[in-house]
Amino acid sequence: MSEVIDNNVSNHSGVKLVAAPTGVEGPGFFATNLDQVVGLARSKSLWPLPFATSCCGIEFMATMASTYDIARFGSERPSFSPRQADMLMVMGTISKKLGPVLRQVYEQMAEPRWVISVGACACSGGIFDTYSVLQGIDKIIPVDVYVPGCPPRPEQIIDGIMKLQELVKNESLRRRNTPEYKALLASYGITVN
Ligand code: SF4
Repeated sequence: MSEVIDNNVSNHSGVKLVAAPTGVEGPGFFATNLDQVVGLARSKSLWPLPFATSCCGIEFMATMASTYDIARFGSERPSFSPRQADMLMVMGTISKKLGPVLRQVYEQMAEPRWVISVGACACSGGIFDTYSVLQGIDKIIPVDVYVPGCPPRPEQIIDGIMKLQELVKNESLRRRNTPEYKALLASYGITVN
């Protein structure tokens, strides 16, 4: 007889495993929703593209290193090729001259792609309220998660990644083809690739 599966998972060695999606199980089968399976896989394998220009980048280096170790979240593989990354992490002061470069990197990433804005400079220009500094990267690309702080500690960066994981896990597979998403990109003058 089939039954609805509970989401709490552990194994005999005491190692915590990621919870399976809710579904229906019976002898030899487990049925669930494709959105949930793909969302779960994507959320636990986000590959970062670090776009680090100044001090916040150092906090990211600490986040990558052994004490904080974002390998625990499936994100140990930084990519400096936009085509092989899906989590753009912008860390540091972004000058207006650098804006087009950041935007080009974003445009070269394949869908689905997500953006974390790390630190006050990337989020809002930070203390640099000057003619030469972009007052927030969301002026040129859409941002999914903002991490405040100057600089944010590695724990905050990890918190931002975990917030993004929740978004990714619950994102519909159809979202990238919706008129709303296309309108969002169009508002930035970006066409869907
Ligand atoms: S937010 Fe603060 S620590 Fe981060 S890049 Fe700007 S000035 Fe540096």
